Amino acid sequence: MTQPYDLIVIGGGPAGTSAAITAAREGWRVLLLERGRFPRHKVCGEFVSAESLALLKWLLGDAEQDLLQRSLQLSESRIFLDGRTVRIPVNPPAASIARYDLDLALWNAAQKTGVTALQETTVQGIERENGFRVSASAGEFCAGAVINASGRWSNLRRAENHSSGFRWLGLKAHFHGTMEPSVDLYFFDGGYCGVQPVRGPAGETLVNVCALFRPGVAATLEDVLHCHPLLEARSRSWTAAFSPLSTFPVILQDPRPVSGHVLNAGDAAGFVDPFVGDGISLALRGGNMAARSLSPFLRGECEQEQSLEEYTQSYRRALRPVYRASSLLRKFLGVPRGLRAPFLSACENSPRLASYLLEATRSRSVELY
Ligand SMILES: Cc1cc2nc3c(=O)[nH]c(=O)nc-3n(C[C@H](O)[C@H](O)[C@H](O)COP(=O)(O)OP(=O)(O)OC[C@H]3O[C@@H](n4cnc5c(N)ncnc54)[C@H](O)[C@@H]3O)c2cc1C
Repeated sequence: MTQPYDLIVIGGGPAGTSAAITAAREGWRVLLLERGRFPRHKVCGEFVSAESLALLKWLLGDAEQDLLQRSLQLSESRIFLDGRTVRIPVNPPAASIARYDLDLALWNAAQKTGVTALQETTVQGIERENGFRVSASAGEFCAGAVINASGRWSNLRRAENHSSGFRWLGLKAHFHGTMEPSVDLYFFDGGYCGVQPVRGPAGETLVNVCALFRPGVAATLEDVLHCHPLLEARSRSWTAAFSPLSTFPVILQDPRPVSGHVLNAGDAAGFVDPFVGDGISLALRGGNMAARSLSPFLRGECEQEQSLEEYTQSYRRALRPVYRASSLLRKFLGVPRGLRAPFLSACENSPRLASYLLEATRSRSVELY
């Protein structure tokens, strides 16, 4: 058993690093445990919504600002559905950041902030015993509090019986090719494919292609490119920069910010429909909020239950509305095409209406970090 920490954060993705950096900046001794090794590609559309860019800047600190300077800006979203094209201005613009770079930069920032960060360390169990005892592949660790940021389908999440929803398949790769500064969503029966420009390792512009669909609709990313005629035509000149990655199952989950006495952040709290492009933002904000909620407890100013309640309430106010809005939009996609037509036509002709819908899928502004 090593010397106790104030806080153990499980998972080194956007939620975990956000929590760890925030807690370390508040002066806590933080241990961050990550199963994998950075850098690594990840199945993700890589759309980082504008609401979290100021927080991301703060988390990265001076040493990692280059990431934001290199990132591409996305000022429009185009939705290709039922033979129509809905254009939505993205104002302020979102950022397109490869997860290969984003997750590494946040990991490095956590270390520079004083977090003890261990990679290739899988957490196997959490026990509550005079604080918490966390057993991991590298040994046992103890702390006064734990944040679970281990993503949507970790060994720690599966036990929570959140597996009843429909199971989607996700595929992603970068392609050599060109495109406008837009995030384009091509919808087809049984899924959709998101396409946007992203910065490659040598500073070149690549195209990120990321799809989510029902198993059986397509077997490969190549098949997905043939699922929509416009996408097929556009992708003819593209060539893959690396072999496609896959993830299964992807299950949409309503948020559960607290389990027992552990705070859940990011996908570990709940998985939002990826087509709204807010998962990274929810992860950054949720991690930040979870760490801040724990501070009064770690300072000995309140009971742990109060910190858990504070986190649950701020989560409900600021982040939960995104899940509601995205679930309504998902239901809309499920109605017969004929019923969708008048609404789509209205959006096609009114960028203001379309912008309003986009805003409804964004997390509420609250004072953070
Ligand atoms: C198809 C698809 C497209 C998407 N597109 C977008 C998009 O364009 N924009 C957007 O904002 N979001 C998008 N998302 C969602 C986004 O990827 C997630 O919401 C985001 O990664 C959540 O971050 P996180 O830190 O909670 O989890 P993760 O990024 O999954 O990080 C969790 C980390 O925990 C580690 N871990 C797991 N188990 C353990 C363990 N037992 N011990 C230690 N470490 C562990 C994992 O290795 C991982 O590094 C998309 C998702 C999918 C599936």
